[in-house]
Amino acid sequence: MTAPPAASHPVALALGGNLGDSLRLLETALDDLDHAPGLRLQARSSWWRSRAVGPPQPDYLNGCALLDTHLSPEALLEVMQAIELRHGRIRRERWGPRTLDLDLIFYADLRLDTERLVLPHPRFRERAFVLMPLAELSPAWVDPVTGRTVAELAQAFEDQDSVWPLEAERHRSPSPAP
Ligand code: AMP
Repeated sequence: MTAPPAASHPVALALGGNLGDSLRLLETALDDLDHAPGLRLQARSSWWRSRAVGPPQPDYLNGCALLDTHLSPEALLEVMQAIELRHGRIRRERWGPRTLDLDLIFYADLRLDTERLVLPHPRFRERAFVLMPLAELSPAWVDPVTGRTVAELAQAFEDQDSVWPLEAERHRSPSPAP
């Protein structure tokens, strides 16, 4: 007798990087996630640029993705870390530059606090570069810790200039001719 298929759970991930060709790298990472066994990409945000915190370093490129998964939270984290390593994630210093950073923001409405994994991600509420793209995708997702929606959490950051859509850079009008 075959076992019944494992239930599918909605998850939200954040992606970021600021070393190398970040746009190509993040696109490839999304493709890797979509092709990983037990994972299926459902929706993706646009790309956002954000100013780095920590030591002086290039601006980041950030985005979020919604996926469905049959994997446990721990197995999903392992897949994410394998993808980070495959793309040559460099871990020199905390808050330092990195080629690819994948964070698990939500796993359905699960709350977890183990040595390896904290859910929802413990710092996502302070990060405009997570909340702005996540609000594009899933404004009504309720943070199981605060009971607030992603849209409500993102509102605090709407007027700040530490994060801006990549599209805004592409469409920026050229400087007027002298
Ligand atoms: P960082 O380099 O800041 O992305 O931190 C990675 C470490 O955070 C890993 O060793 C993970 O085990 C741990 N971690 C805890 N909770 C999470 C989460 N929700 N998403 C990703 N990594 C997490």
